[in-house]
Amino acid sequence: MTVGIASNIPALKTANLGFPRMGRQREWKFALEGYWAGKRTEADLLEVARNLRAEHWKLQKAAGIDFIPSNDFSLYDQVLDTLVLLGATPERFGSGYVTLERYFAMARNSREQTAMEMTKWFDTNYHYLTPEWSAGISFEVNTDKLLSEIHEARMLGIETRPVLIGPLTLLLLGKGVDGFDPFSLADKLIAAYKTVLAQLAEAKIWWVQIDEPILATDLSEQAIHFFRKAYRQFGAVPIKIMLTTYFDRLAENLFAVVDANTTGLHIDVVRAPQQLDEVLAVLKPHQVLSVGCVEGRNIWLTNFAEASALLNKAVKSLGAERVIVAPSCSLLHVPHDLRGESKLPARLKSWLRFAEEKLGEIVALAKADAEAAQQNAAAIADRASAESSVNPTVRAQLAALKESDFSRNAPYSERAGVQRAALGLPLFPTTTIGSFPQTAEVRKHRAAFRQGHETAEAYEAFLRAAIENCIRQQEAIGLDVLVHGEFERNDMVEYFAEFLEGFAFTENGWVQSYGSRCVKPPVIFGDVSRPKPMTVKWTQYARSLTSRPMKGMLTGPITILQWSFVRNDIPRQQTAWQIALALRAEVNDLEAARIDIIQVDEPALREGLPLRHRDWDAYLDWAVKAFRLATSGVHNRTQIHTHMCYCEFEDILPSIAALDADVISMESARSRMELLDAFRTHGYPNEIGPGVYDIHSPRVPDAQEMYALLKQAAQALKPEQLWVNPDCGLKTRGWPETISALTNMCAATARLRAEVRA
Ligand code: GLN
Ligand code: ZN
Repeated sequence: MTVGIASNIPALKTANLGFPRMGRQREWKFALEGYWAGKRTEADLLEVARNLRAEHWKLQKAAGIDFIPSNDFSLYDQVLDTLVLLGATPERFGSGYVTLERYFAMARNSREQTAMEMTKWFDTNYHYLTPEWSAGISFEVNTDKLLSEIHEARMLGIETRPVLIGPLTLLLLGKGVDGFDPFSLADKLIAAYKTVLAQLAEAKIWWVQIDEPILATDLSEQAIHFFRKAYRQFGAVPIKIMLTTYFDRLAENLFAVVDANTTGLHIDVVRAPQQLDEVLAVLKPHQVLSVGCVEGRNIWLTNFAEASALLNKAVKSLGAERVIVAPSCSLLHVPHDLRGESKLPARLKSWLRFAEEKLGEIVALAKADAEAAQQNAAAIADRASAESSVNPTVRAQLAALKESDFSRNAPYSERAGVQRAALGLPLFPTTTIGSFPQTAEVRKHRAAFRQGHETAEAYEAFLRAAIENCIRQQEAIGLDVLVHGEFERNDMVEYFAEFLEGFAFTENGWVQSYGSRCVKPPVIFGDVSRPKPMTVKWTQYARSLTSRPMKGMLTGPITILQWSFVRNDIPRQQTAWQIALALRAEVNDLEAARIDIIQVDEPALREGLPLRHRDWDAYLDWAVKAFRLATSGVHNRTQIHTHMCYCEFEDILPSIAALDADVISMESARSRMELLDAFRTHGYPNEIGPGVYDIHSPRVPDAQEMYALLKQAAQALKPEQLWVNPDCGLKTRGWPETISALTNMCAATARLRAEVRA
């Protein structure tokens, strides 16, 4: 058997770019939460962090990784850490030494203060804290964390390659406060980085990894200019820089990147294998290439034949001493290890690799290990031939789709009148985004049921009682469109995935989302189909309890896709449409059960956007069609809602409009209604509920505050377009604050209604 590896090449050097921080058993999550709850001391917390770092370094060393990262661990977020390092934390949190208390105040909302804004890290589901650029930033460098971690590793006999987020990425990921131009900080920022690099050099660090994933996006001339200037200056510091790019191809930024003259360049050849040739053609003779050929973002085994073909090509062109084998990006985005998985089908498990196993792949590839290559080829072949991956019925359904399957029967302008007559809602209808508090009691019952300590009957009786209580609360508050509360859901994706064929679930496949928050994405390994209804029973029960309109609640196809580990053996578009077909059946069943309003949440629509603008249209086209496929099989009188949160929508507004949802609710309280300007400019045709309060904070805004926001919204929109709702679901909140906030929201609405009537 030929496996495509030349065994006569010497072993290549290996690198890792970042290791998951949570720990095998999510020790970090529990430590953090214990600390926040006052059950752990600061010393205690920091010791857990130290132990985790030590463990992670040791296991990377034992795996045979040559370049082991440090400073990839973070107490909360690596972007915040970089700001602390550079003395560039937001002015509104004060200046000077950053205590742990201040560090967490910047990261987490409290009653007193709004935290920094959270944004998704490129197209991943990791959230970073957004830098806030303003004139008064001090740039007092503090390398304590950076240097002490290097030292910690040295005490274990491990020399690390520290990781920094690069200046261009940091600058561009931030927001100028009140229109401040971030680029006006350019020189100070560069100087701060130089100080950091000089201190590293002084600490006898030979190599530093500087992450600049922003180089895989479209950049302005100003950005490129800044980049060139920064790295030209870094060239004066006696330290080797591994300039690390990932998530997409460098394309036209390649020339500036090579010109930056860093000793090393890392590229992602999983997302963009075609760029290897381009890079090899221009790399300078002294530059080494780190080839990111083991996917850092998904959990499938690497195809060794493909990866080693790329590596061989690099070796042929550069010589083995100038090639490093690495994961495509930090392993932050994959779970810790597969050992904890005892319930996965053995065959599926043999196709998976988590962080630790990926290190093994990297080393095997670097050594051109023939036995490993043979095992790999066998597993790859086994996966390709597995019948469990293909469902002929689903394939036939997809092949038979017609244009009309993607469109409602009538345009919104016609549907709106039919819906208005059928639903009889007041002006500015009030509603929520779906979930109500997932209290400890709810979680306790679910856990007991899952572990077999509670019978299905008892659990269902509990859920019915929770739904009934939720309905009564909503009625008492005076909401117009009610929801059942989503108490049966552990998670908005996993709940659906558990009903669907083609999905598998890990026990410990946790990935950090932000801070102490982890998600356990389901694994899509085969064609997706829906054997039976998923939500109809609960929604129908809720509906039977009240005379007010009931909104059915589903998670959309793109969100299910985005928040799962997706198979990489067929195009994502196909999987998305398979999920859409399954949801379409659910939507139709809900309608048949006389649920007149159905919400299909797509909070992840935007995060699926490719990093390069030129790839946007292709993605948006199939993503919008997926939503339409899921939602267009209903009558005109059925009102389709969607919901989006946590990102900027302005630039994809035409696609959001193309979803053709009758109503959309969107997060906007945190971005202070900036969104509305966009709606005003672009003219959104259908109905909208811009969220009037931030559900990520326990703070209860008063009616006056919400009224002011509503008033602003009412100026940007036509009265019959405006809905009133919170920013997002209420599952993380407690009941008392939920009731107060929603009561205030209804009071604010009543005031606006009275004004309009007057
Ligand atoms: N319906 C979901 C909820 O209310 C929506 C969550 C989300 O947008 N992330 O929890
Ligand atoms: Zn939301």
